[in-house]
Amino acid sequence: SRRLLMHVGPVTIDNDVLSAGLVNNAGFASPEFVEAMKYALNGFLYTVKSGNYMPFILPGSGTLAMESMTSFLKPNDSVLIISNGVFGDRWKNIFSRYNLNIDYLKAPPGRAVSLNEIENIKKHYRMAVMTHVETSTGVRFDVKSAAGILRNISDIIVADGVASISGENMEADKWDVDVVFTASQKALGAPPGAALLAISPEAVSELNDVSLSGFYNNLYAWKDIMTSILDNKSAYYTTPPVHIVFSLARAFELIKKEGIDERIKRHYIVAESIRSGIDGLGLEIVAGDDYKSNTVTAVMIDNPSEFISGLYSKNIEIASGVVPELKDRYVRIGHMGWLNINDAAATVSAMERVLHEMKYNISPGQGLKRMQEFLFNNN
Ligand code: PMP
Repeated sequence: SRRLLMHVGPVTIDNDVLSAGLVNNAGFASPEFVEAMKYALNGFLYTVKSGNYMPFILPGSGTLAMESMTSFLKPNDSVLIISNGVFGDRWKNIFSRYNLNIDYLKAPPGRAVSLNEIENIKKHYRMAVMTHVETSTGVRFDVKSAAGILRNISDIIVADGVASISGENMEADKWDVDVVFTASQKALGAPPGAALLAISPEAVSELNDVSLSGFYNNLYAWKDIMTSILDNKSAYYTTPPVHIVFSLARAFELIKKEGIDERIKRHYIVAESIRSGIDGLGLEIVAGDDYKSNTVTAVMIDNPSEFISGLYSKNIEIASGVVPELKDRYVRIGHMGWLNINDAAATVSAMERVLHEMKYNISPGQGLKRMQEFLFNNN
């Protein structure tokens, strides 16, 4: 049976994108690969609306992009971490392995750190990091406003867009965010295997070979590789994820064809469709009203593993909860990439039947009705 991956990553992949990766015997020095890589690099800049930034595609996942931020840091530098959950906390897990001075702001589950709290900071930092959409709770953070405040207290501003980019508006250049990044398996809707970064010209000019980074994640070294490829010349540092890059190039072709703003709007409509259904079913959404994202919805539920396996038996795969405070009391639905409102309807319909099987008091169509009401008024 056809499966629907309503997960937080990897996500449902468009067949065109998946099959674009089935390239017969192309090596990393082939003109085809260099062309696809260059296309994907530029496609990423289009997606984050920052044509003058420097794009990077690295073999690895989102965490590699996070750890590569050590390329901007030296021993004893001060960094500010703004954490709204598990993936915000990952910054702390990473940076605490290095000789750095860490300050850490943390929001309770379902909320984001308040901008007031950031405004009150008097200290200066080498780097400030934040998470655009916190995947553990589906909370969206106001990166634009935060960056405006952080500019006064931090040299380099970083936003983790792993669970947001191409599903949420991200204007790195206009918002004055120096580094944004994502991973191939999220809203870009390609297989896992590549980390994508866009870095401001000012921040790129500060990269040098004396930093806390290791070898593999050293952006100073990777810069030359990307420069070469943007100049249509192959280059080697470590083996690139060749077939993933072919898939990514196809994904960016589709993203340009749809238009980034249209794509973001589609994500919003799908997200709100699912959330209307969830409201209709009487379930509680973890993210507060001001924080709901286009890409991830976390939902409170009494027996998450029964709910997840019930949906799985109906060919819909969702994700379990990961926030320690809420563990075993909620699930996460990812709605990223190539999904449309038919997929949202299938998800709400299956949720309804699973809840019925779980002996919730649900009448047929209770969630779907609310979803249709939303769509009647918004399409
Ligand atoms: N940041 C965020 C916001 C994420 O959602 C994830 C992955 N769930 C990561 C970082 C880490 O990315 P990866 O699992 O690809 O290493």
